[in-house]
Amino acid sequence: MSVPLKLTLFGANGRMGKELRALIKEDPGLAYACGIDRQETIEQGMPPQEEKTLPLSEGLREPTDVVIDFSQPSAFMELLGALRSRPIALVSGTTGLLEGHRQEIRGLSRSVPVVWASNFSKLGNLMVFLAGEIARIADAEDLEILEAHHKGKKDAPSGTALSLFEALKQKNPSLRPVFSRHGDGMKRAEGEVAILAVRGGDVVGDHTLFCFGEGERLELTHRAQSRRAFAKGALLAASWIHGKPPGIYTMADVLGLPSLTNNE
Ligand code: NAD
Repeated sequence: MSVPLKLTLFGANGRMGKELRALIKEDPGLAYACGIDRQETIEQGMPPQEEKTLPLSEGLREPTDVVIDFSQPSAFMELLGALRSRPIALVSGTTGLLEGHRQEIRGLSRSVPVVWASNFSKLGNLMVFLAGEIARIADAEDLEILEAHHKGKKDAPSGTALSLFEALKQKNPSLRPVFSRHGDGMKRAEGEVAILAVRGGDVVGDHTLFCFGEGERLELTHRAQSRRAFAKGALLAASWIHGKPPGIYTMADVLGLPSLTNNE
């Protein structure tokens, strides 16, 4: 039997971290090397005893094959800094990243393989691919994006909503995003694509791409009902990236879909 892939979870005590730990336990091909989280959550004793959770300074010393990150942008920056001196393959799904974060990812990817994705679910990625096809074929129609997430989500609009826009723009470069509409003079201009966010309850993540034609409309919707879909995709990416040469890879690469620029 082959040796299980050793995984370190960064943000191990968060919602995604918990989902990942549960899935790792179910898969004999995967092993939990270590969890890393903030001192406060480690002291609260969130993970079971056998699931070791350490602060970053100690956690990266544990033998591991791949680090999986679901945390927050500032923590992600700390992780990238630490990985510069201890190069390990990285799978990251942290959203709300800015250009500075992306530059750091590009820098790290010269020495290790990195998969960063705003959405790790298989069907979410299929939706992004289909969005590009819609923009290619429906070039005269009006396109708009609406997303809904739980009320605890910090960034808006979601990384997936921005990836959907990126897919549209790759097929039609004249499109431009609009992030709100309020007041007079809001008539829809040619080439505008509104990217709008609603927040509430415990919604895991819904995205709809509207394609409005004359006398008809198409609505392409993806609904994530549980974080399991994202966690499964992140674990698939971790297995896929192990042993790959340094570089930045996308979930489209992992799933064998035509690749888009990785954008949030
Ligand atoms: P969460 O708030 O439940 O968990 C984040 C965890 O990170 C917490 O346990 C927190 O203590 C930890 N953390 C924060 N600062 C840290 C630091 N400095 N060092 C170590 N750990 C630290 O959030 P979540 O719902 O698990 O989501 C995490 C991120 O993943 C968010 O950016 C979210 O938008 C994103 N997300 C992405 C996908 C995807 O498919 N790409 C799916 C779901 C969530």
